Amino acid sequence: MRLRTILIALVFLIAAAFASPYLIRAGKWIVAFNKGIQKAAESQKNNGPIPDALTPDEAKKIYLSPGNPSGASDKPDNFLLTNSAYALSYNNRKGIANWVAWRLSKNDMGEAERQNDFRPDSRLPGGWTLIDSRDYSSSGYERGHLCPSADRSSSPAINSETFLMTNIAPQTHGLNSGPWEKLERYSRSMARREANLYIIAGQYGTKGKIDGRLTIPANFWKVIVVIENGGDISSADSNTRVIAVDMPNDNGIEKRNWREFSVTVRSIEEKTGYDLLSNLPRKLQDQLETRVDPRSEK
Ligand code: MN
Repeated sequence: MRLRTILIALVFLIAAAFASPYLIRAGKWIVAFNKGIQKAAESQKNNGPIPDALTPDEAKKIYLSPGNPSGASDKPDNFLLTNSAYALSYNNRKGIANWVAWRLSKNDMGEAERQNDFRPDSRLPGGWTLIDSRDYSSSGYERGHLCPSADRSSSPAINSETFLMTNIAPQTHGLNSGPWEKLERYSRSMARREANLYIIAGQYGTKGKIDGRLTIPANFWKVIVVIENGGDISSADSNTRVIAVDMPNDNGIEKRNWREFSVTVRSIEEKTGYDLLSNLPRKLQDQLETRVDPRSEK
């Protein structure tokens, strides 16, 4: 009786030892199979229509609702390009945008991964300089987004639009990963709590050229109109918060706070020659553009 129990137990043990690699393999197959199904579902989601995607015309209307700072249209050094993600003025002589305008709302931030598909902007007219990623390699400068990738994560398609090289400009690592990025993060935190942000980011000046065709800007600037509680630009009044920064394209500034670079909108207008927020009543522009936002001062 006892011997029989021991024998049966032994047979079970030997059988289990023999089968275990197969059981482990089967378990792995089941896990892999489930992952495959999950991935397939995800890619279907990724290839689907962009939720609430704007047509370029709708986008232009919204993103330029604060104004078209340089009156961009069809001139090679002030060429208007619009997609669902942003509107921009491209400068063919510099190989970069003069400025990029977009709106940031809570719904613009979703689950889409960073697409990282940097590529030339094939919308530019034939014969123009097509800047691509190679222009940046071994230049010592990073491919800095004007409209950030993370501001456009509602779908892979719209995120991918931020990787067109017309939305990219040479930035030092210190700027790109320092105060510039900190202000981007701060902007998203404001949008997450229901504010609509009208943002215009651009550059001016020059530190030279890469390969004789890609201008390295001396400074990058940004103006953010913060409309609380989901209103549009027509809700702007003399109490509206307007953040404006002017940052040098230098190294060694990664640790610095974006607030150290706060300026008036008017000073950016003087440096660039643009009329920012030109769709707001002149009197309101004079109020909003001549003060440094008190909450943005260090
Ligand atoms: Mn103005």
